[in-house]
Amino acid sequence: MTSKEGLLFGTAGIPLSSKALTTQSGIERIHELELGCMEVEFVRGVNMSPQTARDVGNVAERRAIKLSAHAPYFINLNAQELEKMAASQERIIQSARVTALFGGDSVVFHPAFYLKDEPSKVYATVKNNLEQITAKLRAEGNRVWIRPEVMGRGSQFGTLDEVLQLSAEVSGVAPTLDFAHWHARTGKANSYNEFIAILKKIETRLGRKALDTMHMHLSGISYGPKGENKHVDLPESDFKYEELLRALNDYKVAGTLICESPNLEKDALLLQQTYRKL
Ligand SMILES: [Zn+2]
Repeated sequence: MTSKEGLLFGTAGIPLSSKALTTQSGIERIHELELGCMEVEFVRGVNMSPQTARDVGNVAERRAIKLSAHAPYFINLNAQELEKMAASQERIIQSARVTALFGGDSVVFHPAFYLKDEPSKVYATVKNNLEQITAKLRAEGNRVWIRPEVMGRGSQFGTLDEVLQLSAEVSGVAPTLDFAHWHARTGKANSYNEFIAILKKIETRLGRKALDTMHMHLSGISYGPKGENKHVDLPESDFKYEELLRALNDYKVAGTLICESPNLEKDALLLQQTYRKL
């Protein structure tokens, strides 16, 4: 295996060119396109039966496609009402259970909103919730990584530092590095040297192993003063994806890179082809 085979490219959800709108058909399409991974989208709810999850796992195993999952959007681990907090925890736990059934190793989620709270207070609340979630999963023998995502808007909890600190302090938690989000949020982080600085920071805070098992998101993105507006296709955005791919290659980063552009597999293939030509 060359080091380049250690980084897999795939789509956020079923590819647009899939024959049917099922996860199994999506995995078959990923295989035909010669991509390497797919994120199963539970963004509107965890609505996959245990039997379907096992079928999905069988197709993924046969085609050697690596799976992860995106938990529902309706999660706020800083919710003011206790019921909303409990429901948020439950959505992550349910996502992790189904993910374990289909043989995936990671659940991505949007952690919280600051609302009117100080970031340090929100951090403590989110951390406390994640400790409860990972303890419950561990008690069930579930080893799926719980991965808070680096978020694209200033109102959303999930700066690079917050996500890395949670990953360092809570066992079972690891980052989802969304480079498009971080660029949109900061207006920076869009050059080779800045990408290298991020990778160095991850290595310093979490160790080399984190770079060997990275989970990343990327898309084109349009943004304003408050951060992310919407995802667009990479060629229509200002994101310097070739510089990012060079940084990932030079730092020998391995793991998965999930493309969230509206055109899904088209940009996933663009990223994979660009990476392989480096
Ligand atoms: Zn996301």
